[in-house]
Amino acid sequence: MERLHIVGQGIAGTALAWQCRQREVPFRIYDEPRASTASKVAAGLVTPIAGQRLTLTQGWSFLTEMESFYRNVSSLLGTTFYHRYETVRFLANDVEATRWQKRIGDPVFEEELLPGAPSLANEVFHTPAFGTFRMKRAGFLRVNAWLEASRGWFRKEGGYEEARIDIEECDPGVGTWVFANGPWMLGLSSFDWLPMRFAHGDILTLSIPDLADDRRILSSSAWLLPLGDGLWRAGSTYEAVGHPETLPSANGRASVDANVQKILRCPYDVVDHAAAVRPVTLTRFPTMGRHPGKPHLAWFGGFSSKGVLTAPTYARRFLDHLLDGEALPSEVAER
Ligand SMILES: Cc1cc2nc3c(=O)[nH]c(=O)nc-3n(C[C@H](O)[C@H](O)[C@H](O)COP(=O)(O)OP(=O)(O)OC[C@H]3O[C@@H](n4cnc5c(N)ncnc54)[C@H](O)[C@@H]3O)c2cc1C
Repeated sequence: MERLHIVGQGIAGTALAWQCRQREVPFRIYDEPRASTASKVAAGLVTPIAGQRLTLTQGWSFLTEMESFYRNVSSLLGTTFYHRYETVRFLANDVEATRWQKRIGDPVFEEELLPGAPSLANEVFHTPAFGTFRMKRAGFLRVNAWLEASRGWFRKEGGYEEARIDIEECDPGVGTWVFANGPWMLGLSSFDWLPMRFAHGDILTLSIPDLADDRRILSSSAWLLPLGDGLWRAGSTYEAVGHPETLPSANGRASVDANVQKILRCPYDVVDHAAAVRPVTLTRFPTMGRHPGKPHLAWFGGFSSKGVLTAPTYARRFLDHLLDGEALPSEVAER
């Protein structure tokens, strides 16, 4: 069977490698270590109703497959990586409140909701001026733990190498080289025509002693994810930039901080600040395919803010395409 050489061990490359193992496709995964990548800083959130438009998340129909995918990897590795957590959404303004009124009673949205209002202690939270709702099938992946444990397993099986792969030196005689290397894909001459862009994101870690026992995800203009022991991740910004290398930005930090202050009235400290660049496309759907002129090269990326939810399903469909000639899902831009 054709061997796959997967370049990049972020969420995309790791999901693809696990799907290879599931199909018993021989693979090897290569990763150039970097302190900060989108996968390393991501909060790993999966939220049914998101954004200012309050629509059902793109790719939400993948939820069942996603949960079973992470569960299967967890049973093999002996640790749980994906957790369902209730998510409380605070409507941020009149526009959102009006939009939400139109969703009430729609069975598509009702299915995702928990009944009743959230309990919000007065000394911790501002009184929500525009309303709230609660989502039940939300959750998050402990992305770094999943990446690290997967790396350990691939390494033990002889399928992992720490290396920077130069696209000009990929040997066509040894199988297909799949570039799942996030925003760095655009810097490669063979893929500089891909419809990908860069979106910088800042993310903070907060210490919030008054919220030490809360296990809900809080979401508004900012979101807050409990890590335990009073630590929370808070984020994130989304800003178009011109290159994949990035540093935490003072403006990004101030913006997340200001949005957190709209939810919380209790004191907190910022204990860490990280940033990375998301690989995004104009359609917000990922992009994948085999290179039209160099069939030993392929690409898989552009997961935007939905890598955790959508990478497992798209990885399976992409393998069906590469190995069996199945058509790619119509929404995926192949060119
Ligand atoms: C602040 C922030 C918050 C986010 N929050 C969420 C969230 O809550 N939920 C969610 O689903 N998504 C979230 N995302 C988006 C998510 O992180 C991305 O969808 C996902 O990480 C993209 O993964 P990737 O594998 O395509 O790319 P990357 O994570 O960029 O991984 C690419 C890998 O390829 C390696 N590489 C590059 N070039 C080479 C080479 N030549 N040879 C070998 N290796 C190479 C890199 O070192 C890197 O390890 C967030 C992103 C950011 C920035």
